[in-house]
Amino acid sequence: MSLSLFDSRAQAVREFEPIVAGQVGIYLCGPTVQGLPHVGHLRSALVYDQLRNWLTVNGLEVTMVRNVTDIDDKVLENAKVTGEQWWALAYRFELAFNQAYSALGIKAPSYEPRATAAIPEMLDLIERLIAAGFAYQAEDGSADVYFAASKWAKYGELTNQKIDDMAPDAEVELRGKRDPRDFALWKAHKVGDPASAAWNSRFGAGRPGWHIECSAMATKYLGSQFDIHGGGLDLRFPHHENELAQSSAAGDAFANYWLHNGLVNVAGQKMSKSLGNSIFAVDLLAAARPIAVRYYLGSAHYRSVLDYHEGVLEEAESAVARIETFIEKAIRRLGSTPVLVADQILSALPAAFTKAMDDDLAMPAALAALHDVVRAGNSGLDSDDAEVVAASLRSVLAMTSVLGINPLDWVKESGANDSALDNLVQSLIAERNQARANKDFARSDAIRNQLQAAGIALEDAADGTHWSVN
Ligand SMILES: [Zn+2]
Repeated sequence: MSLSLFDSRAQAVREFEPIVAGQVGIYLCGPTVQGLPHVGHLRSALVYDQLRNWLTVNGLEVTMVRNVTDIDDKVLENAKVTGEQWWALAYRFELAFNQAYSALGIKAPSYEPRATAAIPEMLDLIERLIAAGFAYQAEDGSADVYFAASKWAKYGELTNQKIDDMAPDAEVELRGKRDPRDFALWKAHKVGDPASAAWNSRFGAGRPGWHIECSAMATKYLGSQFDIHGGGLDLRFPHHENELAQSSAAGDAFANYWLHNGLVNVAGQKMSKSLGNSIFAVDLLAAARPIAVRYYLGSAHYRSVLDYHEGVLEEAESAVARIETFIEKAIRRLGSTPVLVADQILSALPAAFTKAMDDDLAMPAALAALHDVVRAGNSGLDSDDAEVVAASLRSVLAMTSVLGINPLDWVKESGANDSALDNLVQSLIAERNQARANKDFARSDAIRNQLQAAGIALEDAADGTHWSVN
């Protein structure tokens, strides 16, 4: 294959060469499971699912690692609000993420490590950094351990910044740091946080910083050097910059290519909790069929901003319907459904589609190629040219398989999609019940309103709360 990918570190499109011929290792930053999955999370997971599919169709063996950040300030804060154990809250949302992923046909990663299951590896990495002179325990005697960003000359290389330009303008509290640019590798246990959220170390009880997690887990599962590191554009700085600094300072070659997907805007605005304009997985799955949601999320170039606004899901529905109608008519005309086994897919793809995918996954061009063939197939149906219909059908099935939108694959799974929506709504109902038990009526009303906005009505009955789509 001759795939080119935009490497954010090089700020250039580079020919993709795996380290070991025929194999690809991908590390993708997964969610912090502190709340429900929103459209931005889904888009990020989806674009790497498309990349994984494309590599697999081209005969490469892909090892995909996507972590779960299950310990974090926000996980602890939110668990205080709902009155749950932090690990129970984290697991509840981890399940909600997995339901949403599977509803959209996003395959489970090869490995899905939780941060709390890799703490010995994180402590090992911290020791290596201390030995190399790039980490230190806090000057104020607490259990905090910091990475000495100010001493790592290459700090800023991923985002093209110079360490000398990164000093803060105003005086900041150092809290045991030697330099304000240094960042936490290990965070001392805080009074008021549950004892279950602290692990013993020679520095004292504490928990890992966010960045060290990914450095430790990526190398645990993929080795000290691996092919691709991916994540959303919002993670480039400081998260990925810090991952790269830690791992390189410890002597690991780390990722060969850095990929970043664009974010999702809502009606031209940045999506944020404070604006209250977030679009959640439940909203999407209540508004359109999962195959159409997947089509929509995967329709823009992965590096561009994807805008969510009124009408986008209807557009995706009608694009999917055009494909489905052609496939149905073609199968009826031919009297049989062609079966494409995995190694026949590549040869059934039109050159324009392959070229687009190889060109840094140029999805708009790939979709244009798909719709061109649908049109040609429809003309074949009109002129009753069985050969054209058969060739177009094979080609459409091959392209939609690569993109994960082959309607024949989705028919079988529609039951699973219904249960995914049910699980997501049930998770919100559980949170609302908890809020009501805590007399937090503002929160419980907010959840009801959020569901209402997604077209889902709740009915409180003696045997519990039931939901229905309006
Ligand atoms: Zn990460």
